[in-house]
Amino acid sequence: MLGCVCGCFLLLPRLLHAGGPWFVDEKGSGVPYTWAGGTIIWYADAGGLGAFSGAEIIDQVKKAFDVWMNAGLHLPGMVKVNTVQVSAVLGGILKEKLTPENLMKHLNKTLIIYDEDGSILTGEGVNPQDVAAVTFLGAKMDPTTLHHLAGVTVLNGLFLQDVDPANPGGSKYARFLATLVHEFGHLFNLDHSALNWENINEIVSDIGAFGKALPTMYPVIVEGGGQETLHVDDVVAISTLYPRADFTSKFCAFAGVLVGSDSLGFQGAHVVARPVKDPMTFAISAVSGNALPQGAADGSYIVRGILPGEKYTLSYGKINPAFVMESSLQPYGDEEGETPRSGFENAPITAGNGKATTVLCNAPGETVMMDTIQLEIPSGGTFQAKNPLVSASTPMAPPATATGGSPGGDPETKAGAKKTFGCTFVLP
Ligand SMILES: [Zn+2]
Repeated sequence: MLGCVCGCFLLLPRLLHAGGPWFVDEKGSGVPYTWAGGTIIWYADAGGLGAFSGAEIIDQVKKAFDVWMNAGLHLPGMVKVNTVQVSAVLGGILKEKLTPENLMKHLNKTLIIYDEDGSILTGEGVNPQDVAAVTFLGAKMDPTTLHHLAGVTVLNGLFLQDVDPANPGGSKYARFLATLVHEFGHLFNLDHSALNWENINEIVSDIGAFGKALPTMYPVIVEGGGQETLHVDDVVAISTLYPRADFTSKFCAFAGVLVGSDSLGFQGAHVVARPVKDPMTFAISAVSGNALPQGAADGSYIVRGILPGEKYTLSYGKINPAFVMESSLQPYGDEEGETPRSGFENAPITAGNGKATTVLCNAPGETVMMDTIQLEIPSGGTFQAKNPLVSASTPMAPPATATGGSPGGDPETKAGAKKTFGCTFVLP
């Protein structure tokens, strides 16, 4: 993949990206991290949270995992096809309530933490007034097998203070459920989705009309946004990481390459496929080069989950410049002071040497190749793959986002860990 410009379609079978993996092979193989067998074994904190009993929280956590396990896409005629192979298993309930002081000794397990007073979030440098939940991933992973071994989701009790378990129809309750589903997307190694960010004001001001325009993995959970259920974009993202055979055999893909003015692959552009019939609700997004580390000079993308026989338009553009740090999308923006790529304008992606502005696939399983598009700015790519022998024995560099002093003093959550809390709220 190194220096991949226009000839990289030979490598297509290895291109697992599109739909956003969070952690990818740092050595540049193009393979994202996953959980072995698609299975997360998780442990529940002791006690309850807010007005919820322990049993009620566990029930909600299971329901949120179920949303991902049951994900599927609809073929024309509304036939639902299960496209995902993931599972989550409750390994047990901890005997002691997790605190900043005792957290470290439990971090070999995947934990759902009930942070009643926000002290664990505070200890990790997160303001509990800003967020409903945070997921930490990347501290326990195996660079040889590319498997995650453990992760942590912290549920913020302060957010839940006025959520009533007896009122599951309440809007804050729905946002709590949406937050759980969003965080477990991260636990499965999904990145954020920036789909429809250009229309966010329109969507929020008329949420009834655009209620299904925002993916669950959008960095913001919106009042009334229905993000407790998955958008097509979310289903494609999880199916791309953990596909059932039907996902690749019954749906199509659009693939192509963006290059900079220096003719090197342009990484970090937002690519969106929109069905002509319903361009908002059934759109699917990808980020060019997001299967490789930053600077890889890889401008390839592949948008999967495309309906056979359905007309789409494709375009590329910027990612919201506000999506930085914990709200970022790989591979640009999660380091202090770093922003998504900018300096270029949104534009259509054509097919057939500029002839076609709409595209469709005729045969299930087909991958339609789009034109290679050159942007007006340089790619910025300089990536050199690391020597695998060196990197296998070298810890990953701790990113700036995870260096806050923790009362738990846990060096293992810090080294290589990334966190996300992209779950601030748009209030009515
Ligand atoms: Zn998030």
